[in-house]
Amino acid sequence: MRRPVTPEESAFIQERVERFAAEAPEELLWQEPHVRAHGALPLYVGWTETVGIRPDGEMVRWSTEDWPGAVELDDATWYKIGLVLGARRYPILQRLVPDRPAGARDCDLCKGSGRFPLQPEIVCQCGGVGWVDPQ
Ligand SMILES: [Zn+2]
Repeated sequence: MRRPVTPEESAFIQERVERFAAEAPEELLWQEPHVRAHGALPLYVGWTETVGIRPDGEMVRWSTEDWPGAVELDDATWYKIGLVLGARRYPILQRLVPDRPAGARDCDLCKGSGRFPLQPEIVCQCGGVGWVDPQ
């Protein structure tokens, strides 16, 4: 999956990748070898897999335990989660969060907030966008 990015957004992602070792919050520094190897900025960091975006807008995921390399992200929910969380850390990426399509309904679980009820720090199963695609 690829999210079309503007030249400014692309340059922003490129810069964050290049400066990751210097800029990343301490709890993410262990991702530095992966960032360098895959040329992607981590957006969602899970226990064993990370979702990231490359400067050209390509969304990829990589394992931090089980397998080498990075593969193209092919899951719509993780795509949304990555962009929603990425935009929380880097507000310039907010434009990349998918727009709510016509006909989408509010997510039943989070009632449109995108955050898991009772544990708002957890992203809802709708991918954090607060809506569910009609399809
Ligand atoms: Zn939801």
